[in-house]
Amino acid sequence: MTPIELFTQGLGLQAPWRVSSSDFNVKDGLRLVLSCDETASLCCPQCGKPCPRYDATEREWQHLGFWQHATHLRARVPRVSCSEHGVRLVSVPWARPEMGFTLLFEAFALQLIKEMPVLAAARLLGVTDQRLWRLIHHHVDVSRSEQLLTRVTKIGIDETSANAKTPYITVVVDMDSARVVFATPGKDGATIEAFSKDFTEHGGDPTNITDVSSDMSAAFISGVNAHLPKAQITFDKFHVTKLVTEALDEVRRAEVATEGFAAILKGSRYALLRNVETQSEDQAALARVIALPQLHLKSGRAYRLKLAFQDAYRHCGDQGVTALRNWCSWARRSQLPDFLRVARTIRSHWDGVIRYFTSRLTNAVLEGINSLIQSAKARARGFRTVKNLIAMVYVIAGKLPFPQPSPRRHLLGQW
Ligand SMILES: [Zn+2]
Repeated sequence: MTPIELFTQGLGLQAPWRVSSSDFNVKDGLRLVLSCDETASLCCPQCGKPCPRYDATEREWQHLGFWQHATHLRARVPRVSCSEHGVRLVSVPWARPEMGFTLLFEAFALQLIKEMPVLAAARLLGVTDQRLWRLIHHHVDVSRSEQLLTRVTKIGIDETSANAKTPYITVVVDMDSARVVFATPGKDGATIEAFSKDFTEHGGDPTNITDVSSDMSAAFISGVNAHLPKAQITFDKFHVTKLVTEALDEVRRAEVATEGFAAILKGSRYALLRNVETQSEDQAALARVIALPQLHLKSGRAYRLKLAFQDAYRHCGDQGVTALRNWCSWARRSQLPDFLRVARTIRSHWDGVIRYFTSRLTNAVLEGINSLIQSAKARARGFRTVKNLIAMVYVIAGKLPFPQPSPRRHLLGQW
C-alpha cells in the first residue's frame, strides 16, 4: 500500500474524493491534498439536483493532529451552477460549509471544552481561542436553531452570577429532561418575556407551560403571570427554607449580643443552622440544650420553629398545607419579629408555597447546574463576555446534540 492509499483509507474517503498528494515536514506538520474526480457528477448542495460544474475553489481545513504534528487538508472544491440556486460550492463529507475545521476536529474540540477552559483546549489543539470561541458559538447557534421544545410543560427559573458588567444571567431549565433550554442576561421580568418569545420560535406554546419553579422574586412572578398565562408557580422549597434559617440566625445573633446570653450560646451558630442529619454529636447536644423550653431562650424557640418548618415540608397534599398553616400561626404568636416577618411573606405567597405539596417541584436541578456553571467560570477565571458565558451554559447543561468522536465512525466524521 502506498502512503497515498494509506491516507485515503485512513481518512475513510470514498469516490469521487481521494488523497492525491501528501507533504510532511517537522515545522509545518502534515499536509494532505485531496482531489475530486474530474468526471464525477455533482449536485447542488441546496436542492440535490445534478448540476454542471462551474469552476473550483481552493479550501483548507485543520484536522486532528498526526501525533504531535498539525495536520491540514487542502482541496480544490468544485462549484456547480444550479438553474434554481445559482453558483454553489458542493458539500464535502469531512467538513461543514465555510468551516475551517474538519468535523472530527470540531467534535473533539467540543468534547475538550466541556472538561477544560477554552484557552487550554485551544493551546492543546494548536489554534487561537478566538477561533475556538467562533466554533462554539456556531455549534450552539446551529444546534439551538434545530431544537424543538414542543413537549416542554414544566420549567425551573433561577439566576446565576455572571460578570462585573452584567451581574446576572437567568437560566431556564426543562424540568422533565433536566437541561437548560434558555439563558439570557438579567434577572428581571423581561427575561421571562424573552424566554416566551424564544420558546415560541422553537415550536413551543407558552400556554402549554403548566408549572414554573422559582424563588419569590417579584420580577419573575410578574413575568410569569404576564407571559406564561396558564402556569402555576411553585416557590422553591430551598429558597423558602432559607427565609426561616436566616430568621433563626438573626434571632440567635441578637441574643448573643444580649448581656448574660453569650456563654450559653457560644459555638451555637452551626449547631442551630445545620440540618439534624449533618450536625456533629456536640452540635446536636448543644442544639438540644438550647431548645429546652425551660431555658426560655429566644434562640431555642427559633430553633424549634425551624424544626417544625422542616417537618411541615415532609408532608404531602392537604396534610402539608395544614402543617404549614399551623406553623404560620405559631410563628405569628412566637413574639419573634423575624419569624413574624417570615410568616407574613409565606402568607402573601401562599398559593405558590403550598403548590409544592402537589407539584413536588424544586430548583434542585438548577442548583446543580448553577454549580457546574460557577466552576466552569472559576476554571476559566471568568468569561470575557456574557455571550461567551451563555454559550458555555448551553454547552455544559443544554444537552445539545453535539457530535461525539467515535472510533466506529468514518474517520473524518460524518453525521
Ligand atoms: Zn439547487
